[in-house]
Parts: sequence; C-alpha cells; structure tokens
Amino acid sequence: MDINTPLSTLSRVGKTTVSRLKRLGLYTAGDLLFYFPFRYEDFSQMVHIADLHEGETVTVVGKIELIANRRSFRTRKNITEALINDETGSLRVVWFNQPYISKSLQPGDTVFLSGAVKNDMLGPQMVSPSYEKAGQENRNTARLVPIYPTTASVTQKQLRFMVSQVLPLIKKFEEWLPKEILEKQDLVPYADALIGIHFPENVQHLNDSLRRLKFDELFLLQLKAERGRRALAQEHAPEILFKEKEIKEFVAKLPFTLTNAQKITAWEILQDIAKKIPMNRMVSGDVGSGKTVIAATAMYNAVLNGFQCALMAPTEILATQHYSTIKKLLAPYDLPVVLLTGSQAKSSDREDCKKKEIVEIINSGKAPVIIGTHALLTEGVEFKNLGLVVVDEQHRFGVAQRKKIKEKGEGAHFLSMTATPIPRSLALMIYGDLEISIINELPPGRKPIKTRLVDALNRQKAYDFIRAQVKSGRQVFVICPLIEAKEQLTINNEQAMRVTAVSEKKTVMSEYEKLSKNVFPDLRIGYLHGKINAVEKEGIMAKYKAGETDILVSTSVIEVGVDIPNASVMMIEGAEKFGLAQLHQFRGRVGRSVHQSFCFLFTDNHSPKVAERLQYFESHNDGFQLAEKDLEMRGPGEVYGLEQSGEMQLKLAKLTDRELVKVARTEAMAITGYLQNYPKLLNKIKEWENNVHLE
Ligand code: ADP
Ligand code: MG
Repeated sequence: MDINTPLSTLSRVGKTTVSRLKRLGLYTAGDLLFYFPFRYEDFSQMVHIADLHEGETVTVVGKIELIANRRSFRTRKNITEALINDETGSLRVVWFNQPYISKSLQPGDTVFLSGAVKNDMLGPQMVSPSYEKAGQENRNTARLVPIYPTTASVTQKQLRFMVSQVLPLIKKFEEWLPKEILEKQDLVPYADALIGIHFPENVQHLNDSLRRLKFDELFLLQLKAERGRRALAQEHAPEILFKEKEIKEFVAKLPFTLTNAQKITAWEILQDIAKKIPMNRMVSGDVGSGKTVIAATAMYNAVLNGFQCALMAPTEILATQHYSTIKKLLAPYDLPVVLLTGSQAKSSDREDCKKKEIVEIINSGKAPVIIGTHALLTEGVEFKNLGLVVVDEQHRFGVAQRKKIKEKGEGAHFLSMTATPIPRSLALMIYGDLEISIINELPPGRKPIKTRLVDALNRQKAYDFIRAQVKSGRQVFVICPLIEAKEQLTINNEQAMRVTAVSEKKTVMSEYEKLSKNVFPDLRIGYLHGKINAVEKEGIMAKYKAGETDILVSTSVIEVGVDIPNASVMMIEGAEKFGLAQLHQFRGRVGRSVHQSFCFLFTDNHSPKVAERLQYFESHNDGFQLAEKDLEMRGPGEVYGLEQSGEMQLKLAKLTDRELVKVARTEAMAITGYLQNYPKLLNKIKEWENNVHLE
C-alpha cells in the first residue's frame, strides 16, 4: 500500500462505501490519512461499575451477562438491552435501533463501553454507549476517540477502522523539518504527529500533534509568502511617476470628496507604482467603500506616464459597469477607453466595434485604458506596454486564471481589489506576500441598511412593504436560494458549474412565476440567472439600471459589485444557505444613495446555529465584523473560497493561533535564504505547492 492506493482495497470497503467516501472527497489511502478529526471524545477514564457517577463520561470494561432485542410498542423503536458485570457490580445498557449489536456481541464476551452514565433507582445505566470487544486495539472506546467530519452514510466507526488500516503508511514518511527548528520550537516528529492527530495516546500527545501539524501549515504558507516577496523584489517594473498636478485636478473634479481611507489608499498605491519593483497590493474594502475610483486614479496616473493599464473583472456585468464608470471619469481628459469581454467589444468612441479591432488597438498600444473580463487573457491579446493591472474581486477568479493574469501582466504593477473584507491579521497570514490597503470607512451620508429576519407569518407584510417602496419609485432585488450542488462538485468543476446553473435557472424561474403571477402581477419584474448569455444579461441589467424594471429576481450572479443607486430593498430567500460575507455582499447592492434601504432575510431553517448567524447579521452592518464572525463560525477556507483554489491549505491552523503564526513567520523568514541546504524541506515545499499531499 502507498498513499495512492485506492480505498476499495481496504478491508470491509465495498462499492457502496467507496461511493460514499467519494462524496467526502476521499479516494486514496493518502486522502484518508490527511482527513483529520475535527474533535475528540474523551473516553480515556476507566472506571469500575461500583464507582460510576451520574453524568460522567467514562469507560467500563466488563462481561456481557445478557443481551436481547425487543420492540417498543409506544415508540416503535427497536431496543437492544444488555446487562454487563465487572467484579464490582452490574450495569444496564440500552441501544436504540441497532439490532445488529445483539448479533455482534454475545453473552460471555468482554466488552469496553464508553459514554455518559445515568443513575436511576435501579442503579447505573448507559444509553447508546460506544462499544468494542476486548482483545483488539481500542479505536472506539477507552481512549481519546477521533470524531471525523462525515455524513450519516459513513459512520465514525467505519472511518476509524479505515484510518487504522492506512496509518502504517506513516512509517515511510521522512521528517522534513530541519532539526534546528524541531528543537528550537519543541515540535514532535512528523510521523508521531500524524498518528497523534488520529489516535492520540493522551491529551498531551494530541496537543503536541496539533501544534506540530499547525506549525507545518503556517510555516509552509509563510515560506511561500516570503519566497514570493523576495522573488518580486528581484523583478523590474516601470516607474510610474506621480503626476501630482493632473491627479489633484482629477480628484478635484470628482463629483464627491474622497474619504480619508480612500486618500490614504490612493497615496499608498501611487507611492508603490513609482518604484522600480512591481507593486503587489490588495485593496480590501467593504462593499460601497469606493474602490473603483481608487483604481481609476491609479490607472489615470499610469496613462499620464505613457503606459497602458488594464482592469479585469470576474463577470461581464461588472466589467460593463466599470467600463461605463471609468469612461465617465476619464471623459474630460479625452482618453479612449475600451471594453473587451467574451461577447462584447466596445470603445468609448464607438459602441459597436469588432473584437478584432479592439484586440488590434490593444496590441498596438493605441488603447491606453482597457477594461474587460478574462477575455483579456486570451491568446490574441498582447499588450504593448502594460504598466498597471487591476483585478477586481480577485478571489472570484480561478487559480488558473489568476496564474494567467500574473503571466500576462508580467513586469507590470499589480493591484487587486476585494469587497470581502479581510482582517489584517488573516491577510498577513494567507497573503503574506501582498501589501494591503484597507478602506475601513464608507462615504459620508450613507444610511445604515435596515436588516430584518422575517418569519413566515410576516411574509405578506414584507411584500406589502416592497410594493410601497416600488410605488414610491424605488427598485428591489430578490435573491433566490443557492442550490446545493456539492455532490456534483466532487466529480469535476466544469460539470458542477453546469449542473448548478441549470438548477439555479429553475429556482429563479419558479420565484419569478410566483412573484409576477401571484404576488406582484401589477409590477414589472425581471429575472437573471447563470444560464442567460452575456448580451441578454447586459440588456436586463441596463433595463433595471434605467428603472424600467421594478423587481429583479436573481441568483448570486448579482452578487459582485453591481451598482444600482435607486434600489432600496434586498430580499434574500434561503438566507441560511449563504455565508455572512456573501449576505453582506448582497446587502451591499442597496443603500448606495440617499434612500433609506432595507434587507429582508427569509429562511425555513430553524436551527439555533442558523438563527444565531442571521441574527448577528441583522444587528451588524460592518463587513469586517461580519467577516470575523464568519471566520469564527466557518473558517477562512469557506469564507474566502480558498480551499478549492488550493491557495490556502489550512486544515488545522486557525486565525486565532496568533502565537504560532508569529513563530512560523519568524522561522520562515530566517530560513528562506538558505533553503538549498535543506533538500527535504525543498521537496516538501514543491509538493505542497503542487497541492499534493505528501512524500
Ligand atoms: P466598491 O468599493 O464596492 O467597489 P464602488 O467603487 O462601486 O464601491 O462605489 C460605490 C458608490 O460610491 C459609487 O456610486 C461611487 O461613485 C460612490 N463613491 C465612491 N467614493 C465616494 C465618496 N468618497 N463619496 C461619495 N460617494 C462615493
Ligand atoms: Mg467594486
């Protein structure tokens, strides 16, 4: 067996189990080895039956006297009852709906039983304890027992048994951390930590293992960042000098005064691009904080220096919006602006260009300001003298696309913008090679959006309210719930996207039908989903922007950056399906002008966790706070979509492991210059960067 051995070769793993494991993303022995428990049950305390106390979670070892199944008439449950003895007393045990237990355990067997103790008039009892026959290695009782993330179809017991089969692989793993670091930071050996994360001997072993594996993740991440930083410092980029007079004029002509945070950010960018080494800066600012105008300022400055600049957006809708915003901002300076997307080619002097023409003027250098989608990354597009690349909503691009952007923009300054606010500490941790500007201030005069979680009884009231808003001239967004397509996702990404789009279309259409036929037959309603082609989409958005549609029903395609100042209500169905950061993005679509705006959340899910999350959202308007909460509840991988992108492989380490982050950072910085002396570490880095598990 090696790490690539398929799981079907394990003992007691049949076809059904294989397909269930696939749904958990588990295909090979290596996958399983690196599938870590998310918590542990402490069954390590062994107690004699006579010493059992109500409420304690313990393990008892004893002999089965009696075991039998019966059916409860009242609850219709299948009940297995047993009586267990040790030398100090006897214990009653019940299990529900697991009749097979009475087959696998027989009177006379010695068993371990782990769980909570109840005491009643008849003495001690255990309800549905974890059990295991004596005489084999304990995996489910009498120890710290791992609890893995799983669905109902694969049990903890199964997973533990499978993991125990692949664990011996660890013997082949070499230590890859330099001895100096192991000693200085008092870290346990790699193999030891991998065992300890699954089947720790005791709490100390578990903590040591966790600490070691967390350190590994953070250390590799910091190494990558540090290496990136050093590599970047070796590169050259054009010096884009600060054209003070013109920029001051440009800023003075804006229809508003820049906020302080905007000024600082613009200043940081202008300073960076005046240097000979490429800028790599991310602007992180809440929705509506005014990032576009910052990008425009930097772009204008680049053009004044005789360079081309490109602004890339993840969707056609957004690219088109940027095109018209920036065209307007630059209109007084007689600078041509061009747009290139999958389906559109425009220039500020001619709306109906051919793609070929646009590509030509891009390639010849005649187009100084270029806006587009990933269409800008296609083969034929070769910039002439690109000085600055801006990527909006950069986390929305795939890994391959991001790599391509970097390649296309080689030698240029690089600016990315994201509206998913990212706390600085986390940014440091995951984007260590980036400089960060944070716009933590909204333009003045914005009224906080009123957010309400609406229960089913008040749905009609919400509808009445919406009608009143429309009657007073406002517009409304309705977001349809996300269809879960996770199962398909594991097959391959392409297919998953397609499946999602089809089902999204279905929800949008049924919501549209409902609203236009039953709820608001008198209002003008439009719809938008992933299946609609870009030209149509643009038409729909243009109509909405022009106020010719009252209500726009949409999937999350609307999420990114769309600016409709007249919209005042954001209504979100299936709100529990979205993360806080994403909900906040939706909410950010309204409240972009003087009109008081509202966000209504609907959910059919009444779990306390959902309620907690949505109530938090109701009472918080600050994107950074929401991001922190989201991080706490879902982890950075989910929140920033980094897990699939392979950009961050933090399975164990957390934002809150600040001490360890610091240590990892120090060690990474110290060793980066001498990596050639550590071939094993170099190997590990390579393999980690290729997103493969191990040796
Ligand atoms: P985001 O940061 O979400 O990309 P935008 O750049 O789309 O935000 O800006 C949102 C809106 O705020 C736009 O209509 C923009 O014109 C306006 N805006 C930007 N900066 C300011 C400012 N300093 N004062 C007033 N309005 C501003
Ligand atoms: Mg934006």
